[in-house]
Amino acid sequence: MDADVIVVGAGLAGLVAAHELTSRGRRVALVDQENSNNLGGQAFWSFGGLFLVDSPEQRRLGIKDSFDLAWNDWQGSAGFDRVDDEDSWAVRWARAYVEFAAGEKRTWLDGHGIKLLPTVGWAERGDLRAHGHGNSVPRFHVTWGTGTGVVEPFVDHARQAARDGLLTFYYRHQVDELVVEEGEARGVRGTVLAEDNAARGVSSSREAIGAFELTAQAVVVTTGGIGANHDIVREYWPERLGTPPAEMITGVPAYVDGRMLDISAEAGARLVNRDRMWHYTEGLQNWNPVWPGHGIRILPGPSSLWFDALGRRLPDPCLPGYDTLSTLKYLRTTEDLADHDHSWFILTQKIIEKEFALSGSEQNPDITAKDKKAVLRDRLLGKGAPGPVDAFLRKGADFVTAGNLEQLVEKMNQLTDKPLLDAAVVRRQIEARDLQMANPYSKDSQIQGIRNARRYIGDRLGRVATPHRILDPAAGPLIGVKLHVLTRKTLGGIQTDLDSRALAADGKPIAGLYAAGEVAGFGGGGVHGYNALEGTFLGGCLFSGRAAGRAAAKQTA
Ligand SMILES: Cc1cc2nc3c(=O)[nH]c(=O)nc-3n(C[C@H](O)[C@H](O)[C@H](O)COP(=O)(O)OP(=O)(O)OC[C@H]3O[C@@H](n4cnc5c(N)ncnc54)[C@H](O)[C@@H]3O)c2cc1C
Repeated sequence: MDADVIVVGAGLAGLVAAHELTSRGRRVALVDQENSNNLGGQAFWSFGGLFLVDSPEQRRLGIKDSFDLAWNDWQGSAGFDRVDDEDSWAVRWARAYVEFAAGEKRTWLDGHGIKLLPTVGWAERGDLRAHGHGNSVPRFHVTWGTGTGVVEPFVDHARQAARDGLLTFYYRHQVDELVVEEGEARGVRGTVLAEDNAARGVSSSREAIGAFELTAQAVVVTTGGIGANHDIVREYWPERLGTPPAEMITGVPAYVDGRMLDISAEAGARLVNRDRMWHYTEGLQNWNPVWPGHGIRILPGPSSLWFDALGRRLPDPCLPGYDTLSTLKYLRTTEDLADHDHSWFILTQKIIEKEFALSGSEQNPDITAKDKKAVLRDRLLGKGAPGPVDAFLRKGADFVTAGNLEQLVEKMNQLTDKPLLDAAVVRRQIEARDLQMANPYSKDSQIQGIRNARRYIGDRLGRVATPHRILDPAAGPLIGVKLHVLTRKTLGGIQTDLDSRALAADGKPIAGLYAAGEVAGFGGGGVHGYNALEGTFLGGCLFSGRAAGRAAAKQTA
C-alpha cells in the first residue's frame, strides 16, 4: 500500500481531511492535478466569509441570533423537497451543520488560529418572507486574512506532516479512475501531467507524461465543483432557471472542472441534486484576469438601483444582496430578457464608496495581509472607494461614469451591441424613487430595506450609504455597471452519510470511499438545498472534510 488513505484534491476539504488523518497517525497520499503553487484550491481565492450563529461578534453588535432562527432560515432557503430520496442525507447534514455553526464551530476555528474581523456582514438578506429564503440577521463573518487565513493552518499542518513522513504530496497527478474492487475502494489511477510552473490560479497544461496508480485502504474525494466547466453547467442548468446565458464569466479557476463527479459515478457513487447550482448575477469582467474568463463578484450593499437589459427596475425580491437565485431566475425566465445576458446597476459615487465590496482574497489586500492600519485607513477613515474597487471603476470594461443621467445612459448603450436603454424611461423610474426620499418612511421596498439595514450598527457604519437621491449632483458622479452571470458553486454532488461515506445507488456506503467539500454538495450531496445563506461553503468544507478525515481514520485504525 502506498498510504493508509488517499485524499484526492488539495483544496480546503482535502487539507482538513488530511489533517484529521495525519494527526491520528495515518499515512496520507495527497493527490492533486495542479502544482504546489495551488495548494488550498479555491479557498485561497475566497473572501473567507464564514456563517456563524450567535457568535460573540454578533452579540457585541447587538444581533440576537439563535439556532432556532438560523435553522428556520436554513430550511426556508433550502426548500428541501426530495427528503425521501436525493435530500434524505442533505437534510440531516443541514441540521448538523447549523448546530455546528451555532455551537462548536467558533471554538474549533479558534483552536486552529483562525481569527475573525469584529464586523459581521449581512449577506443574502432574503426574499422578504419570514419563512422564506435569506438571513434574518447578519451572519457573514470575514476571516482575518480572508480565504488565505482559512487555509493557512491546514496548509501548515500538511507541510509539517510531510516533513514528519506522514503525508506525501502528489502534485500534477490527475486522477482518472477510482479503483473499487469487490465493493471496496482500493486506490486511484490516473495521468501524470507535465511539469508546469504556472502561478496560482493560472490554467495549466494537460500534457500527459505518464500514468500512475496508488493503493490504500480508503480514498477521500475532495475535488470541488463544476464552476469552470460551462459545458457541465449548461448540461445540468435547471429548467426553473430558464435558459443559461449565451455568455457567462467564470468565478473559479480552471481546475474546478467537475470531472471527478462522473468518475466517482463510474465507481458506483450516487450523484444527487445536480440541477442545483449557485451562480451570481453581479459578475464583473476582471480587468486583470488570472484564469480564463475570470470574473469577480460584487458583494453589493442595498442601495444600487438594479435595472434589466431593457432599462426597467427589477421587482422584489431582486434587490442587491437579497436573493441571488430569484434574481437569476427573473433575468433568465422573463420572456423579453432571456436573449440578453446582462443587467445593470445605476448608483452614485457616494454609494460605491461605502457599499461596493469585491469577493476574493486578492481584491481585499488589506484584510488578506492582516494589515489593521490599512483596513482602518482604506475602509473607515479614507476618502474615495477602496483601492481595488477604484481600479475597477477606472479600468473595468463594465463601468461607465457621467455627470448626468442622459450622458450615463448614452455610455451604457455603448457597452451593448445595440442601444437598448431609453434615458427618459430610466429617468422616470429614478425620479419616482428619489421622490420617496423626503420622509424617513416610504412605499418603495428597496428604500424600506435601506432604512432597515441602517438600524443595524454594522451596516450603518461600514456598509450602507446615507440615504440620498440618486440624481443629487452632490452624490455624483453617476455610475453605470454592466453585470454578468458569473458561475461559482455547485450545490449538488456525491451523496454521503454523516460520516462523509459515499453512498451507492442502493443507499449503502461504498466501503472505504469518502467524499467531502463541494464535490459532495458540501455534505450529504446538497446541504444547501436550493439556496445558500453564504459563508456556508468554506464552513461546509471544514465540517464535511473533518467528518471524512475522522471516519477514514477510524476505519484504518
Ligand atoms: C473568489 C471566490 C470567493 C469565495 N468566497 C467564499 C466565501 O467568502 N465564503 C464561502 O463560504 N465560500 C466562498 N467561496 C467558495 C469556496 O471557496 C469553495 O466552495 C471551497 O473552497 C471549495 O473547496 P473544495 O476543497 O471542496 O474544492 P477546491 O478548492 O475546488 O479543490 C479541489 C482540488 O481538487 C483538485 N482536483 C480536481 N479534480 C482532480 C482530479 N481529477 N485529480 C486530481 N486533483 C483534482 C483541484 O485541482 C483542486 O485543487 C469562494 C470561492 C471563490 C472562487
